[in-house]
Amino acid sequence: MLNDCLFCAIAAGEIPGTIVHQDELAVAFRDIDPVAPTHVLVIPRRHVRDLGELADHADDAQAVLAAVREVARIEGLADYRTVLNTGAGAGQSVFHVHAHVIGGRGLSWPPG
Ligand code: AMP
Repeated sequence: MLNDCLFCAIAAGEIPGTIVHQDELAVAFRDIDPVAPTHVLVIPRRHVRDLGELADHADDAQAVLAAVREVARIEGLADYRTVLNTGAGAGQSVFHVHAHVIGGRGLSWPPG
């Protein structure tokens, strides 16, 4: 856990979060400002900054993908979008890697 990391604190239960699913390596919780009926963030418990760092930790990367699949199952989503913003210029605002799982409404492409 990294001091001053919001998502580490949510994973540790130090800051409230609406947990949807968790296991040894990953945690899924609802986004505080949802853009769709389902908007869940999936994080590794390990503090890694972004997708580039996550790629160096195969077990954590696998756990994140499996947790995304589990969130979709729990939420009853056959169709959903998974987004990992990497870098401030791409919209990353929290520098603990997270996969947005967005669904429950129609989703257009390309995104904004
Ligand atoms: P990103 O901009 O891709 O880094 O995504 C960060 C996401 O974290 C945004 O969608 C925020 O709404 C969400 N967020 C920020 N603070 C919290 C919080 N305390 N609990 C849940 N989600 C949060």
